[in-house]
Amino acid sequence: MSKTENKQVKIVAAIKDGTVIDRIPSDKLFKVASILHIEELSNQITVGNNLESQELGTKGIIKVSDKFFSDKDINKIALIAPNAKLNVIRDYVVVEKKTLKLPSVLEDIVKCVNPNCITNHEPMMTRFHVEDNHTLTLRCEYCERVMSGDEVKIL
Ligand SMILES: [Zn+2]
Repeated sequence: MSKTENKQVKIVAAIKDGTVIDRIPSDKLFKVASILHIEELSNQITVGNNLESQELGTKGIIKVSDKFFSDKDINKIALIAPNAKLNVIRDYVVVEKKTLKLPSVLEDIVKCVNPNCITNHEPMMTRFHVEDNHTLTLRCEYCERVMSGDEVKIL
């Protein structure tokens, strides 16, 4: 085994219980880490980036021991890195492979860009309809504002 391969093996070493988010595009790695607030966790965390990937060229990976993310968190990951893979590990075995899929409605996940929107003035949950999965086009239920791509700000 070459030195590089050896390093790679160590980075992706197994965890006993927890969550592995794999195949994150390298340029999205820290954004995913940030929306999951992993900096606030005291769990054992491994973050790797710019790892060699046959499919993606390079990729990022996040492994968090003893942490199982909520569906809401998983939806947030789907917004940023829809093709990432999320595996739930129990006793060193992958017990669940979660597909990151955007739901048709996003509740309390995205901020409305319209400054006049009621959701920016009242203590209430935002609610967006996903109009297009690929271009990430969302429509606010309250003000009908449509936003897409970089306009989308995650709460
Ligand atoms: Zn709005």
